[in-house]
Amino acid sequence: MPHTTGVRKRKVAVLGASGTVGQRFISLLAGHPWFEISALTTSDAKAGKRYGDVTPWLLGEDMPPEVADMRVETTRGDLDAEICFSALPSEAAEEWEAALAKAGHHVFSNVKTHRMDDDVPLILAEVNPEHANALDVQRRNRGWTGSIVTNGNCSAITFTLAAAPLHLAFGIEQVVVTTLQALSGAGYPGVPSLDALDNVIPFIGEEEEKMEQETKKFLGSWDGTSFKDAEFPFSAHCNRVSVRDGHTVTVSAALRGRPGLREVTLAMRAFKGRPQQLGLPSAPKQPIVVRDEQDRPQPMRDRMAGNGMSVVVGRVREDPVLGLKFVVLGHNTIRGAAGASVLNAELLAAEGCLGA
Ligand code: NAP
Repeated sequence: MPHTTGVRKRKVAVLGASGTVGQRFISLLAGHPWFEISALTTSDAKAGKRYGDVTPWLLGEDMPPEVADMRVETTRGDLDAEICFSALPSEAAEEWEAALAKAGHHVFSNVKTHRMDDDVPLILAEVNPEHANALDVQRRNRGWTGSIVTNGNCSAITFTLAAAPLHLAFGIEQVVVTTLQALSGAGYPGVPSLDALDNVIPFIGEEEEKMEQETKKFLGSWDGTSFKDAEFPFSAHCNRVSVRDGHTVTVSAALRGRPGLREVTLAMRAFKGRPQQLGLPSAPKQPIVVRDEQDRPQPMRDRMAGNGMSVVVGRVREDPVLGLKFVVLGHNTIRGAAGASVLNAELLAAEGCLGA
C-alpha cells in the first residue's frame, strides 16, 4: 500500500527547472501526492518569464499546463519552498545549495558539488538510507536549520543499485565496468549532433573518477561521526553513445566465495529496501528486474521498467577472468537523477528527518 494517507503537502522548488533534469523533476512532481511545486528557477536572463515560453520541452508527454503558466525566478536564498530539488549546473550549485540549506531549506541535489563532502550523505534510497543519520552532524557542524542530501552520478547509481545485493550477500572483491551512456546525460543541447551521430566518444569528463568514488561511498558505512568507504579495486571505462535516454553498464566482478549464477540472480531479484517497506510513492516494486533473454536489457525496450525507477539486469553469466559478468541498464534522468532525488525526499519525509 502506498504510504500516502494523512501526509501534509510540502512546497517544493525545482532549481535549474528548464534543463534536462529540471524537466524530469517537473514531470515527476506534477500531481505528486506529497509535494507541490511552488517555485521554478532558471538563469537570471529568463527570470520573470513564463516557464512554457523559456523551456525547450524535451519529454514525450506534454508539459503540465499548471507549470507552463508559472513565472520562473532567479535562484536565491528566500525561495517559497521547504524542499529544493537541485538540477543546477555545478557553478550555480556552489553558489546556492549551501546558502539555501543555511536559510532552512532541505536541498536534494543531483549535482557533484557536495556529494563527497564529509558531512553530506550521498543516498541511494534502497541501498544506504541509514546515511541520513549524518544530517545531525551536518546541521551541528554547519549551524544549518536546513540540509543537503545528494544523489549520485547517473552511472554510479545504475551500477550500485545492481551491485548492492551482491556486496551485501557475498562482498565485492574487485570490479571492472564499461559504460555506454546516453546523450541526455550531457544535458541540453549537450553533445553536438555531428559529434554524436554515427559515433562513440570514449571520454566523459570526470565520469570514471565519480563512478569509482561514489560507488564506494554508497556501499560504505556511516559510523556516527564519519563515512567509511567500501574497499575494493574499481575500474571504469566511460563512453558516450548515440542513445537518447538510458545508460548501459557492462560489469565483470569477483565476489567473495565465488557464488553460482543462480545465487547471484536470486539475490538481485529478492532485493528490496526501505522505500519498498514504506510503500513510498515513487518506489518501484522491484528495484532490480532480472531478464533471462540473451539480448536484453536494451535502452529502447527496458529503460522505463518500474516507471524508469528500476534498473534492468541481463546476461548474467560466468566471466573467465573475474568469475561473474552481467549487463545493467538504468534510466539516467529518472533513476539516475530526478527520480532518485524525489525518492530520497520521500524517504526522509517519511522517516521524520525533514521536520513534522
Ligand atoms: P542542462 O540540461 O544543461 O540544464 C541546466 C539548466 O540550469 C539550464 O537549463 C540552465 O537554464 C539552468 N541554469 C543555469 N544557471 C542557473 C541558475 N543560476 N539558476 C537556475 N538555473 C540555472 O543540464 P542537466 O543535464 O539538466 O544537468 C543539471 C545538473 O544535474 C548538472 O549538475 C548535472 O551534472 C547533473 N546531472 C545530470 C544528469 C543527466 O542525466 N542529465 C544526471 C545526473 C546529474 P537557462 O536556460 O536558464 O540557462
